[in-house]
Amino acid sequence: MNLIDYGFIPTMLPEDANWIPARVTAVHKERYELVCEHGQTFGKLKKSIYYGEGIESFPTTGDFVMIAYNASGDSQIIKTLERKSFFSRRDPTPGRGEQSVAANFDYVFIIASLNYDFNLKRIERYLTLAWQSSAIPVVILTKADLVDDYTEQVKAVEKIAGSVGVYAVSAKTGYGLDTLSEYFKPRKTIVFLGSSGVGKSSLVNALAGEEIMAVNDIREDDSKGHHTTTHRQLIILNSGVMIIDTPGMRELGMWDVTVGLSEAFADVEQYFGKCKFPDCKHQSEPGCAVKSAFASGELPEERWNSYLRLKHEAKYSDDKAAYLRQKQEWHKSIAKFTKQNKKNGGFIK
Ligand code: GDP
Ligand code: ZN
Repeated sequence: MNLIDYGFIPTMLPEDANWIPARVTAVHKERYELVCEHGQTFGKLKKSIYYGEGIESFPTTGDFVMIAYNASGDSQIIKTLERKSFFSRRDPTPGRGEQSVAANFDYVFIIASLNYDFNLKRIERYLTLAWQSSAIPVVILTKADLVDDYTEQVKAVEKIAGSVGVYAVSAKTGYGLDTLSEYFKPRKTIVFLGSSGVGKSSLVNALAGEEIMAVNDIREDDSKGHHTTTHRQLIILNSGVMIIDTPGMRELGMWDVTVGLSEAFADVEQYFGKCKFPDCKHQSEPGCAVKSAFASGELPEERWNSYLRLKHEAKYSDDKAAYLRQKQEWHKSIAKFTKQNKKNGGFIK
């Protein structure tokens, strides 16, 4: 086994390492599934390092780590190597901050279906998330066999996607799958983003040429579906490409979109600074470059509204987290009060 096949770049190695590098292929509660030069192994975090000063990031699926290899039991994870890309979400446990859900992927496949589920706003959100991760986004529109003409949809996506590749495919007929082969290169890692039912599993299976993920057949009355995935969260295909699919990926929210917003909305932000007044709010000020771009049809008003909405959401999601924390504190204080009150014989004193 050579870790280079798993995307490891030897220059990532710390100089004086006594340990060997490994890649995290799955995260369980306290145990990590790993691959290293000795093949598959399991590992546990070295407590004094990960629970000490608190500078070492907890490994997630896709991470490269340094381990003290143990041939006859769990290896010890000593260090998380620097990530070239990652997704994180706000940890549902209060006070825990961020939780990484995938790391070191090259491409983010944004999957949307061309039929009933088609939603430009959602694609816009995913694009923002993808840019934020530092990986390269690719938009894949699935179920092309179910629509007669999707040229308008592809055009609409291309408009919001900028330089990002947009592909229409069908996992069912195989249409367009060969156009994705440029991403299916050995040592590359891909993550799939998209709502349930858009055809992620079908696409992975069609591309892999084998049943890797269970496909859920949606009935009309139950479009939610349920997802089952093989145990492993980082899978290497015969072609040598790797796919990451973790439960956390599916719950990725939009809790901090501000960082990727500028890349996703470069066509909008190009007008900033060109208005007559430097502090222009782009509402009704004279000489506003944004307004005149609407007027000339250069910038669709729809695009501007999406931009404002995402800006607002980014702010709101921050506020919301603070609000939830406050609420929790409040509930705690009520619980404390109730307990005390019971102790005191049920009377408020
Ligand atoms: P996931 O939840 O995103 O992983 O979606 P699945 O791969 O489980 O697919 C959901 C449903 O869409 C299943 O009933 C699939 O058979 C169907 N489906 C997926 N891809 C295609 C496609 O390209 N064409 C058609 N007609 N149906 C598809
Ligand atoms: Zn303006």
